[in-house]
Amino acid sequence: MGRISVQSSSPSPLADPLLLVLVGPGGTGKGTVARQLLERDEALWLSRSWTTRPPRPGEDPDSYVFVDRSGFEAHVERGGFLEWAEFLGHLYGTPVPTPPSGSDVLLEIELDGARQVVDVVPEARVILLSPPSEEVQATRLRGRGDAEDHVQRRIDKGRLELREGRELAHFEVVNDDLEQAVVEVLGIVEGLRQAKAARHTPPEER
Ligand code: ADP
Ligand code: 5GP
Repeated sequence: MGRISVQSSSPSPLADPLLLVLVGPGGTGKGTVARQLLERDEALWLSRSWTTRPPRPGEDPDSYVFVDRSGFEAHVERGGFLEWAEFLGHLYGTPVPTPPSGSDVLLEIELDGARQVVDVVPEARVILLSPPSEEVQATRLRGRGDAEDHVQRRIDKGRLELREGRELAHFEVVNDDLEQAVVEVLGIVEGLRQAKAARHTPPEER
């Protein structure tokens, strides 16, 4: 895959968006935390992924662009994805991001995709959200309505994702208490913004 930059309508490096990548085993609460982040931080923009997975019963139809495999593959051919990966038999991909000017970009994706993002955008920052325990993760998956065979597959895959996620991620946040986890991630985002602003401030003005 060639080098792809995040498309921003602003020419100023100060307005270059942060690229934040939220990873973690299924059922940890990535989607829940991402929704909270968007509600509380107006400068965050969540990329909407494409997937060939069918919608879950009751799932928000806007949570993905749901497509069939040929539609997905045609978009790959067009170079329309920043990254894409196969996860438990379905394809998932992040379209090349087009955030509004001044917004930072949040991706909520699995690990192979996160690796591709870091390869093409080394400034991207990866936050691993981890479950307090496998038992809690299983309870959350069941509570969300995942089928039992799915729960087991996601727990098994989750072990690997935690191990590899710790190698890739720049930050780890345990999602035990939701409020605490959200506040922690917001703090990380704020710290990254301040670090970026400091890099763009001339030394005499610091
Ligand atoms: P993921 O996107 O990581 O697969 P979800 O966001 O779908 O996970 O969360 C899985 C389930 O766990 C959902 O039913 C959600 O409401 C619940 N959940 C998420 N975070 C917490 C938390 N901190 N405490 C209790 N339940 C949670
Ligand atoms: P789910 O089927 O539970 O919605 O998602 C399964 C996994 O795919 C999750 O780990 C989720 O973060 C990941 N995922 C969602 N969108 C994308 C994407 O655009 N690219 C990649 N690589 N993974 C994604």
